[in-house]
Amino acid sequence: MGRDPRIVIIGAGVSGIATAVTLQRNGFHNFVILEKGSDVGGVWYWNRYPGLTCDVPSQLYQFGFAPKPDWSQVFAPGPEIQRYLADVAGRFELGPHLRFDSEVVAAEFTGSGWRVETGDGVVHEADFVIAATGVLHHPAMPDLPGLGDFTGQVLHTARWDDSVPTEGRRIAVIGTGSTGVQVVSALQRKAERITHFVRSPQWVIWAPMNLPQPALVGAVLEKLPQVNKALYQAGMAGAKLFTDVVTRPSWRRRVVQEYARVSLRAQIRNPEMREQLTPDYQPLCKRQVLSASYYRALRARNSELVTTGIETVTPTGIRTRDGRDHEVDVIVFATGFRAHDYMRPMNMTGREGISIDEAWAKGPRAYRMTAIPGFPNLFTVLGPNSPTGSIPLHHAAEVTARYITAWIQRWQAGEFDTVEVTEEATGRFEAEVAEALGPTVWNTGCNSWYFTEGGNIDLLPFDRHTMETMLAAPDERDFHLRRNA
Ligand code: NAP
Repeated sequence: MGRDPRIVIIGAGVSGIATAVTLQRNGFHNFVILEKGSDVGGVWYWNRYPGLTCDVPSQLYQFGFAPKPDWSQVFAPGPEIQRYLADVAGRFELGPHLRFDSEVVAAEFTGSGWRVETGDGVVHEADFVIAATGVLHHPAMPDLPGLGDFTGQVLHTARWDDSVPTEGRRIAVIGTGSTGVQVVSALQRKAERITHFVRSPQWVIWAPMNLPQPALVGAVLEKLPQVNKALYQAGMAGAKLFTDVVTRPSWRRRVVQEYARVSLRAQIRNPEMREQLTPDYQPLCKRQVLSASYYRALRARNSELVTTGIETVTPTGIRTRDGRDHEVDVIVFATGFRAHDYMRPMNMTGREGISIDEAWAKGPRAYRMTAIPGFPNLFTVLGPNSPTGSIPLHHAAEVTARYITAWIQRWQAGEFDTVEVTEEATGRFEAEVAEALGPTVWNTGCNSWYFTEGGNIDLLPFDRHTMETMLAAPDERDFHLRRNA
C-alpha cells in the first residue's frame, strides 16, 4: 500500500460516474465528485424537454459494470436514463463522495497538485483532477434581434420549465437537430399551432423510437446474465459497423445514406415540402437524427414548416425575411449546445499560470482525449476528440477511466509526483487524428457542432479496438514524470 491520492472529479454525469466507480473498484476512495446540478446525470439531469428519448439502443447506453436488463423501451426515454444513473450512483455507494450544487469556478495547479474552488467558496486540495465535464453542457442561445421585447414565453430545451404551458398554445420551435425533431414531434399533438423554423434541414432516418422492450425480455435477461452479456456484445458488434460506416467510405455507407433519402421520400409526398426538407449535404455528415414521428408531425394540420430565415423577434412573434409575421405564445429554442466549452467558463490554470483558454486558443486539444500539455495531474474523460459520433460513450468513458486509474496507481507506488503529457506526443496524436478524419463522413461538407471554432472536427475517427489499444496502458515516453523538489 503506497500513498493515498486525493482526487477531485468534476461532474457527475456518465463520465464522472464511470470514473468514480472505476477508481473505487481499484481501491481508491479518497475522492469527491463536484457537481453543478442538484442530482447526478449530467445532460440527462438538465435535459427534460417533452419527447426526450435516447437514440442509442438502451442495451448499449449503459455501463459495462452495471447492466440493466429491464429497460422500458428499446430506445429509453430521458427520465429513465437519469433514474438509471442515479440508481448506479446509489448501488456503488457514491453518495458520500457527491457534492451537489457545487459548481467549480477555479482550478489551479500549485506546482505539486491542484487547488479546486467551488462557487460557494469551498476549496479542495487534490493530487489529481479529473474533468468529466461533458460535451453537451452549455445551452447555445442565439442572440436574435428583438428577443428581449417578446411578450410571450421563451424556453431552451436544455433548461425546460414545466410551469410554462404548451397545450393549446401557438408554439415556435427553432432548430432541427435531434432535439428540435423530438420536441416538435412531442408538442405538435397538443399545441394549437406549431411552427418549425428550420435554417438547415437535417436528414431524418426512420427508426422506431418508441418501440417498447417487452417485460419478458427484461425478465429473461435478468435471469440469464450470460444472454444479457451476449446481447451487449452483439450490440457492440453493431456499433462497430456503425463506426465503419461513418469513418470510411464504402458501399455500406452508401446504403445507409440511401436509407436516409428513402426515409424522406416515403414520408413526404408533397414535392414543395420535400424540397424544403432536403439537405444540401450528405446524410450522416451531421449527427444523424432518428425519428418515426417528425415528418408525420410536420404534415399535421396544426403544423407549419418555415425555411425562410428569421429577421427579428417581435413583441408577439417572429418575423421572417419575407416580411411575414408568425404570431406565437411560446418560443422554444432547440438550438443545441456550445459543445467545445469543455470545463469553461471555469478559471483553470496549469503549470506556470497558463490558462486553459490560452492553451486552447485554437480549440480544445488533448492527447488521446485525456491529457493536456501544461496541465499536470489533470485528465479529461470524454474530453476533446471523444467518439461522440461513433462509439458507445459509456464504454469510451470506462476505457478512459481505467487508463487514468493506471496513472494514479503509478503515483500511488511512488514512481512520480506529477505527470504531464508532452507537447510533441500531443501534436503527433493530433496529426494522426487529422489524417484519419479525412475520409470520414463528418468531413464531407456540412456545418455541424462537431466543428470547433478553429475548424477542426472534434471527434475520434478511429474504431473501438484502436481506442482501446491507445488507452490500454500509459506510455511513459509520451509524458514528463517529475518529482517535487
Ligand atoms: P444541434 O444538433 O446543434 O442543432 C441545433 C439546431 O439549431 C440546428 O438545426 C441549427 O441550425 C439551429 N440553430 C442554431 N442557431 C440558430 C439560429 N440562430 N437560427 C436558426 N437556427 C439555429 O443541437 P441539438 O438538437 O440539441 O442536438 C445536439 C446533440 O445532442 C445531438 O447531435 C445529439 O448528439 C444529442 N442529442 C441526442 C439525443 C438523443 O436522442 N440521444 C436527443 C437530443 C440531443 P444549423 O444547422 O443551421 O446551424
